[in-house]
Amino acid sequence: MPELPEVETIRRQLAPHMEGRVLGELEVLDPRWCAPAHPEEVADAVRGRPIARVSRRGKYLLVELADEVTLVMHLRMTGTLLRVDEGEDTADRPHLRARLRLDDGRRVLFCDQRRFGTGEVLLGAETVEDYFGSRLGIEPLSPGFTAEALRALARNRRAPVKAFLLSQERVAGVGNIYADEALFRARLHPLRPVGTLRRGQISSLRDAVVESLEAGIDARGATIDDFRHTDGARGSFQDRFLVHRREGEPCPRCGSPIRKLRAAGRGTYVCPRCQPRPRVARAPRA
Ligand SMILES: [Zn+2]
Repeated sequence: MPELPEVETIRRQLAPHMEGRVLGELEVLDPRWCAPAHPEEVADAVRGRPIARVSRRGKYLLVELADEVTLVMHLRMTGTLLRVDEGEDTADRPHLRARLRLDDGRRVLFCDQRRFGTGEVLLGAETVEDYFGSRLGIEPLSPGFTAEALRALARNRRAPVKAFLLSQERVAGVGNIYADEALFRARLHPLRPVGTLRRGQISSLRDAVVESLEAGIDARGATIDDFRHTDGARGSFQDRFLVHRREGEPCPRCGSPIRKLRAAGRGTYVCPRCQPRPRVARAPRA
């Protein structure tokens, strides 16, 4: 599932081709993509509008159009955005859900095998703020993501630190891959209650989240299953994972075999020596 670095990779690839152009037409081929809005309603709202900016909030990709009209897309499980040059045939693309036509003849295809990906149109800047205000917490690559800010979010919370990182309404854009990588870098066990972290640990966690996300962006995202670049290429961050999906392999720091456990309902990878279990969670001795 694409996380912040994967969506940011797509954004960086699309922006130079879309910004300054006009969105000629949006064809919704699968009504589920924009439900409950009607496909024609969505198409009418964006037709012929200049594209001011392609931006990102958490795992959402935003196409900001003239007059504060915003097309908000989410790739969910298997969504991909592919760029197609003028004249290339797109009729036989598998799992095509929506197609954006630009005024230079290029198209951007939203393909999605599992069909959980979405597109919706928001009218007015205030609507955009309300939409994300209720869904997303702090942007981890924004200047506001300081150790102090993270400490305020974590204070008195009993949630395990991994579950905390995965909740989009606390920290936006972090998913299973980058949570594992960040917790390893910060030497924190995923089941440690986030409210019990000491000042220095919060500070390490803040840095580790930023470093993991930036490493993911540098590698142009991770391709485990479906994630693809806008030209169909794969990301390479999966080759640089420190612990994620590396069960049984040696820890890059201490050499202990990496273990897999379950945390926040997700397969989670840790070094048992670098990330010791919290004492409260240890089984009582006989
Ligand atoms: Zn280790």
